[in-house]
Amino acid sequence: MTRRDGLRALQARDEPWDFVIVGGGATGLGCALEAAARGYAPILLEMHDFAKATSSRSTKLVHGGVRYLEQGHIPLVFEALKERGRLRQNAPHLVHSRPFVVPGYKWWERSYYGMGLKVYDLLAGRKNFGRSKRLSREETLARLPTIERDGLRGGVIYYDGQFDDARLAVNMAQTTVEQGGVALNYMEVTDLRKTNGGVDGVVAHDRETGARHEIEGRTVINAAGVFTDTVRAMDDAAAPATLRPSQGTHIVLDRSFLPGESAIMVPETDDGRVLFAIPWNERIIVGTTEAPVDEVTLEPEPTDGELDFLIEHARRYLVGDPGPEDVLSVFAGIRPLVAPSQSNGQATASISRSHELHVSESGLVTISGGKWTTYRKMAEDTIDRAAKHAGLKPRPSVTKHLNIHGWHEHPERFGDLSRYGSDAIALRRLMKERPALRAPLHDRLPIREVQVVWAARHEMAQSVEDVLARRTRGLLLDAQASIDAAPRVAALMAEERGHDQQWQCDQVEAFRETAEAYLLDSA
Ligand SMILES: Cc1cc2nc3c(=O)[nH]c(=O)nc-3n(C[C@H](O)[C@H](O)[C@H](O)COP(=O)(O)OP(=O)(O)OC[C@H]3O[C@@H](n4cnc5c(N)ncnc54)[C@H](O)[C@@H]3O)c2cc1C
Repeated sequence: MTRRDGLRALQARDEPWDFVIVGGGATGLGCALEAAARGYAPILLEMHDFAKATSSRSTKLVHGGVRYLEQGHIPLVFEALKERGRLRQNAPHLVHSRPFVVPGYKWWERSYYGMGLKVYDLLAGRKNFGRSKRLSREETLARLPTIERDGLRGGVIYYDGQFDDARLAVNMAQTTVEQGGVALNYMEVTDLRKTNGGVDGVVAHDRETGARHEIEGRTVINAAGVFTDTVRAMDDAAAPATLRPSQGTHIVLDRSFLPGESAIMVPETDDGRVLFAIPWNERIIVGTTEAPVDEVTLEPEPTDGELDFLIEHARRYLVGDPGPEDVLSVFAGIRPLVAPSQSNGQATASISRSHELHVSESGLVTISGGKWTTYRKMAEDTIDRAAKHAGLKPRPSVTKHLNIHGWHEHPERFGDLSRYGSDAIALRRLMKERPALRAPLHDRLPIREVQVVWAARHEMAQSVEDVLARRTRGLLLDAQASIDAAPRVAALMAEERGHDQQWQCDQVEAFRETAEAYLLDSA
């Protein structure tokens, strides 16, 4: 998958695309993949990098949502659990089962959560990731040796999915291309094209080359996440806001604060939130908060209140008492939550409680809400609707059993490259040809130099940030180590792509500016 090939395909097309999809997060990529796999001709345009916004900043759970179960949203949980099972089948190199322990400090907690989690097991049915079970105090401590012991009575263990969100996004883009679609990053939609009042394409600005493109489409799908209202405003300046954005922040700690395989799930903090502490990539992710925000940006900034909340709760549950000096990285994302349906006379179809599809009078199809776990179902609903709107011959969905790029029956065989799945074979070959590429990028990052070359060559990584934030997860794992590694990444990319010294300096500086916001001091 290269950007040059994508641009060639864009230029070569002499008829309208079946779907022009705005936004390259989970939702847009899901739609592009769904359409391409059905044999339609989609083109996806992402203004920055794939998964730059919310889709690289999740808690990394492929889950039904224990919280939604408690709130009684059974159909939503049921649907998400089905998707969870499918995703593990279709992308076993990226999705795996993780044990979660709910620690019980009150007398009723083990029975209450034990019962609820049995319902979770039942809803998952044959696609369950492992059976939940009540744990004694000793069993809980064996699973979570660093959990606060004072007042601990026992716990409940259950299983959910964990994944690498940004890598799934890039693998979805690759699968789209393999299925005959086109996915381009750094291509911003600046306006919609209209003929006789109907949307029939977009105007796009190539942020790499500066070129302007008019791209015709039978249907335009707005999958711009927290920016969907901005795209809706291109269609109708008076369109009411549909989203209620809500920010969530995570802190990242060293693995020593929570050794072992199990994660901690606190179903209800003092102020009624769910809190997780989850092993991920030899680190611990602690999150998340939930704070309404007025403004949406690509780089949301955590507030002091959120950081205090996370550190205070990490100290409350972990005997190591982590402090601000232990935080290796901080990252925030904005949830594209759907506000209650608008009553402006336009057709608004509520597909489920989790996501909403809206078709405007001029035919712009907007898909919003939902979560990473349910991207496939959202995409299936969207393409059904958009194909109907475009008058295209209906074609059934095939994504329930479609392998995602990198699928491999035994990805664990590839050790530290297991996330690359079948691509790991080619990465190993590359290291054989150029043994220097085996070298770690930095002694605090689980990344080898070969991954940088691979990202530049095959994964459409255009910048140092693309490599350190999303093709690898260095920025989330250790922000300072990533800043230190940036010059080496720039040098490797420059060699691969033929960039000059000035490009390298600009890239390192741009990355430093972005990455400093992930350090607790500047956050
Ligand atoms: C803190 C947090 C934790 C979460 N944890 C989980 C979890 O553990 N599991 C789970 O299932 N879900 C989770 N979610 C939800 C999930 O991450 C989101 O639902 C999902 O990522 C949204 O994807 P999206 O594609 O709709 O939006 P985005 O990822 O924001 O993608 C929209 C894209 O559109 C692009 N765009 C916008 N305007 C334009 C334009 N004019 N032209 C071109 N491109 C444009 C943007 O650059 C962006 O990349 C979490 C969310 C948050 C905030």
